[in-house]
Amino acid sequence: MSTKPSAPAITATGLRRSYGDHVVLAGIDLHVPRGTVFSLLGANGAGKTTTVKILSTLLRPDGGTARICGHDLATEPDAVRAAIGVTGQFSAVDNLLTADENLRLMADLHHLGRAEGRRRAERLLEQFDLVEARRKPAATYSGGMRRRLDLAMTLVGDPQVIFLDEPTTGLDPRSRRDMWQIVRGLVASGVTIFLTTQYLEEADQLADRIAVLNRGRLVAEGSPEELKRRIPGGHVRLRFADARHLDVAARVVGPVVRDDDALTLQVPNDGSVGSLKALLDRLDHASVVVEELSVHTPDLDDVFLALTGNPDGPTHSGDAADFPNPANDKVKVTTR
Ligand code: ATP
Repeated sequence: MSTKPSAPAITATGLRRSYGDHVVLAGIDLHVPRGTVFSLLGANGAGKTTTVKILSTLLRPDGGTARICGHDLATEPDAVRAAIGVTGQFSAVDNLLTADENLRLMADLHHLGRAEGRRRAERLLEQFDLVEARRKPAATYSGGMRRRLDLAMTLVGDPQVIFLDEPTTGLDPRSRRDMWQIVRGLVASGVTIFLTTQYLEEADQLADRIAVLNRGRLVAEGSPEELKRRIPGGHVRLRFADARHLDVAARVVGPVVRDDDALTLQVPNDGSVGSLKALLDRLDHASVVVEELSVHTPDLDDVFLALTGNPDGPTHSGDAADFPNPANDKVKVTTR
């Protein structure tokens, strides 16, 4: 099937879809460059799966247009299907079959021929760490193994764009991290990933760009860092050696949260290099010595709440200790 290598992986304009009176998508635009991870975030029922179904030709939109790798969804659905793979919330794995058999079945569906099918299956079993389990029925696999097999089956067709609809929901932290590594490897090999997830840190870990879907519209789009910078709550905390420096600094930086016991000031700041430099330059100019500086960026939970007002939106995964959220890490710099 022909592909158009210079075309973006996904473009969409004005996609609309309703179920009866219920407007799920009220006109969304998308632009996903090749070799990137795009994450669509939204609360339960926001329309993420509907979007994936439309973009993967499983559902017709009521309006709007979309292209996958340059192929029009409406007029070239076969070319679109040849370019994509979909790993949905519900596994395509046949539990009665072994990994070998499931992969061979996919190879047959893609008309790969015996030798090529076997070659790809071998490579995928290795890549997804399923060699040992290859002759056991998938019913005996752990959740993580089954999810890996599911993704391996998607890759049999050598897709350029993969739709991952909540790929790690229900997985334990270790399996989730394994899956993240696999996704990173796929992207490094040039594949484009369209990821829907309930886990904000998953989007934060993997996505180049994130779009937030709320009430049928994309209410924000940007890199994880850009989104975090757009909402209030970012600040730097400055600690000083003594009360005299604290006094001068408070005068220089204007109204701030001040803690005389801890000798600290909390200054609203978006954490960008430019604004940090400007702040430190002002203090330097007033001969104030900063003992310690830490940058506090809002995390994606804050972003999601600010944008949608929905506390039931995407969540952090259960085990906070096991899942440090780098978005919320404090960058601490001792300046003296
Ligand atoms: P989740 O995170 O729960 O999977 P989602 O963001 O993927 O949610 P969708 O599955 O796209 O949401 O559903 C969007 C809305 O459309 C929901 O309110 C859902 O009930 C409704 N919906 C989905 N499919 C149908 C259908 N076949 N008939 C009627 N309503 C539907």
